[in-house]
Amino acid sequence: MPTEMVVNNLSEKGADYCDIRKEKWQETFITLKDGTLETVIQGEERGAMVRVLWKNGWGYAGTSEFETLARTADRALSMAKALNTCREGETGLSEVEIYDQEINIPMKENISDIDLEERISFLKDLEDRVNEPFVTSIELGYRDSIIKKEIVTSDGSRVRMEIPKVFVYMALLGKGDSIQHVLETAGSTGGFEVARHMYHKTDSALQRLNHLLKAKSSPSGVMPLLIDPILTGLFIHEAFGHATEGDIVTSGGSCLEGKLGQKVASEQVIIRDDPTLDGYGRFPFDDEGVKARNRTLVKNGVLVSYIVDRENGWKLGLESNGGARAEDFRVRPLVRMSNMVMEPGDKTFEELVEDVDRGIYAQSVKGGQANPAKGTFQFTAQVAHLIEHGEITHPLLNVSFSGSTLNSLENIRGIGKDFDLNASLCRKPQTVTVSGGGPHVLIDAVTVGGRS
Ligand SMILES: [Zn+2]
Repeated sequence: MPTEMVVNNLSEKGADYCDIRKEKWQETFITLKDGTLETVIQGEERGAMVRVLWKNGWGYAGTSEFETLARTADRALSMAKALNTCREGETGLSEVEIYDQEINIPMKENISDIDLEERISFLKDLEDRVNEPFVTSIELGYRDSIIKKEIVTSDGSRVRMEIPKVFVYMALLGKGDSIQHVLETAGSTGGFEVARHMYHKTDSALQRLNHLLKAKSSPSGVMPLLIDPILTGLFIHEAFGHATEGDIVTSGGSCLEGKLGQKVASEQVIIRDDPTLDGYGRFPFDDEGVKARNRTLVKNGVLVSYIVDRENGWKLGLESNGGARAEDFRVRPLVRMSNMVMEPGDKTFEELVEDVDRGIYAQSVKGGQANPAKGTFQFTAQVAHLIEHGEITHPLLNVSFSGSTLNSLENIRGIGKDFDLNASLCRKPQTVTVSGGGPHVLIDAVTVGGRS
């Protein structure tokens, strides 16, 4: 039975709303460790998720057999009716524009034209490029996916899209006086050209590992902190971005609840989440069939929006801005980020460094956590340097920094004019691909704690 007919049947049976999301995934995953191929997986999967709203109850049912969609739809309807009887409070959906459109994200080098051997020899080539005497272990991973989706809603939208993605990581272990570890990644939507970006990152990975092997332990205290675009991306995603997700806001778990229209950052700060940007979090339509669009969240330091799907948009009195994303066809969509960025400012890197009498320059991510309800964060940089009298001096080990998200956004003293995006995965608990980025950012009065 055609998807539209299944949707129409559900509407005729009295469903207040329903949608069907059909997906096909083609994936390749390869890992290479110290010259040995550890993983080579190629696979294809497909499935569909039916979502039904009956009064205030949501029902969800999935199938991998498209032929049985009508029965799956009936299961979702029964579940929605059952859940309606035990759900308190009202459910609604914000109005959206209706689309009948297909948008495919282009590939410069089509993944399907690159055979498996070529993908493996690409990893071996990368390995050769970082095979230096001080590098004691090299681990490389490559993942590509081509995701085809069709979403049909009872409002009349029918959207189709193809999203190709590539991600490569490189983990290096080095030995000097101590043992150190660096991680480099490259990822975005697009074709095999995305993987080739890793060629431009091998030198900086080696340089960072070399710096770490010579690093001293970090000072601690409250001081200015200059962060690189990767840490800027991590900070605005983890410390700020999760607090802008509509479902977190409506469930009372966000430090930004009730703060629309209020100043939450220094005046020069612009933060936006943009699924139309060429990054790992790009998509043409969200998983409710709402067209992707830029979402400016902070403008001139003022919180101007949250990220919302249709239901949380309705609860907050906002139009959906395309915030619904599901990990795959097995699960329902949640409110998620895409490509979260801080807009560049007007300072050169040299001007930012010159502005610091004694502080830290931190680069890349080693780990960290943030609490969107309390609005606090703690991150560890992969590499850091001391800044003394406006100059970068010696490398430091294990620099971690922590603080209040909103205080730190308010304490931003300088924003660089450069820009970079970094691919990563966000877990909530479903995993989706995202990018985070921005310029170099100088923040005053950050608590830095060194560990030996
Ligand atoms: Zn996240």
